[in-house]
Amino acid sequence: MHIVVLTGGIGGARFLTGVRAYAAAAGDEVTAVVNVGDDVIMHGLRICPDLDSVMYTLGGGADPERGWGRVGETWTIKEELAGYGAEPSWFGLGDKDIATHLVRTNMLNAGYPLSAVTEALCARWQPGVRLLPATDDRLETHVVVDAPADGEGDGGGQRAIHFQEWWVRHRGAIPTHRFVFVGAEAAKPAAGVLDALAGADVVLVAPSNPVVSIAPILAVPGLREALTTGRAPVIGVSPIIGDAPVRGMADRCLSVLGVPVSAAGVGALYGARATGGILDGWLVDTTDAQTSVPELTVRAAPLWMTDETATVAMVRAALELA
Ligand code: GDP
Ligand code: CA
Repeated sequence: MHIVVLTGGIGGARFLTGVRAYAAAAGDEVTAVVNVGDDVIMHGLRICPDLDSVMYTLGGGADPERGWGRVGETWTIKEELAGYGAEPSWFGLGDKDIATHLVRTNMLNAGYPLSAVTEALCARWQPGVRLLPATDDRLETHVVVDAPADGEGDGGGQRAIHFQEWWVRHRGAIPTHRFVFVGAEAAKPAAGVLDALAGADVVLVAPSNPVVSIAPILAVPGLREALTTGRAPVIGVSPIIGDAPVRGMADRCLSVLGVPVSAAGVGALYGARATGGILDGWLVDTTDAQTSVPELTVRAAPLWMTDETATVAMVRAALELA
C-alpha cells in the first residue's frame, strides 16, 4: 500500500513517526507532501522550517524539548549576528541548523529544485519516508495586519508581513485580517507530488495547522484537484481536541478566518468531497465523539500523540476509516 501524508512541521512530524512505524510493520510505502509556506530567506539563507522539522524528527536529530531545530544545538552564530545588530534578531538560527541551510542554499543557487535538495539532505537523515515539498516554486504565507500609525504600509492602515514575523516575533497577537499565499497562483506541484497522489491508496491529512500548514499545500494549483478527483480516500486527523489546539497557536489562525476552534470547525473548513471539500473521513478525539460535519464520515479515537504506540494506534484508526 502507498500512503501519502499532507503535513506541516512539528505536529505532522510526530504523526509521521506513527505512520512510519505502522508502514514498516505492514510493508507499506510512505510519501509526505510538506508545507513550504513557512519558508523564508534570512541572512541570505533559505530556511524551510516544516521540511526541517520533519527531516530532523524522523532522522532522530530534532530537539524533543523545543520541538524544532537540532538537539544539542549551540547559538554562536546567532550571538555574533546580534553583535553586529543584524536583523532579524527574533528568529532562532542554531549553528547546526545553519549547516543545513548553507547546503540547501548552495544547491538551490546551483539550480537544483527544492525537491532534489530535500532528497540530498535526506541522504544524511534517512527519514524512512519520502519527503517532498508541496512545490519547488516560491510560495510564502504572508499575513495582512494593521499597520502601525507611523510605520510602513499601504496607506490604508494595513501591511503584509511574512508569516514567520507574525508567528515568531508577534506570537500572532496583533490585529490580523487575513493570510495570503504569495506565489501560489504560479506555483506547480513539486516533481513527484502528482505521481505520488495518483499512485496513493490512501491520503492522510496530518493533525497539522489547517490554516498555515495544510491550506498552503492545497493552494498549489493542481494539487487540490488531484486529491478531489483521485481514487484514494482522503482522511483527515483533527489537530483540535476539545476547544483548543493540542499545542501551538492554531486557534489564533482559525479565529482570523472566523472558524470555530473545534474538531467540527476544522472538519467543516476542509469539507466533505461531496460538498466541494477534500475529505472522505474525519478522525476526531474521543472527547469530540459527538462531532458532525455535513456529508462527512466522522470517527473518534484517542488523538493524543503521547508516544509512538499511541500515534500508531491513531494511524491505524485513520486507515480503518479509509
Ligand atoms: P508546525 O508547522 O510546526 O506548526 O506543525 P504542524 O502544523 O504540523 O502541527 C501543529 C498542530 O499539531 C497544532 O495545531 C497542534 O494542535 C497539533 N498537534 C500537536 N500535537 C498533537 C497531538 O498530540 N494530537 C493532535 N491531535 N494534534 C496535535
Ligand atoms: Ca509550520
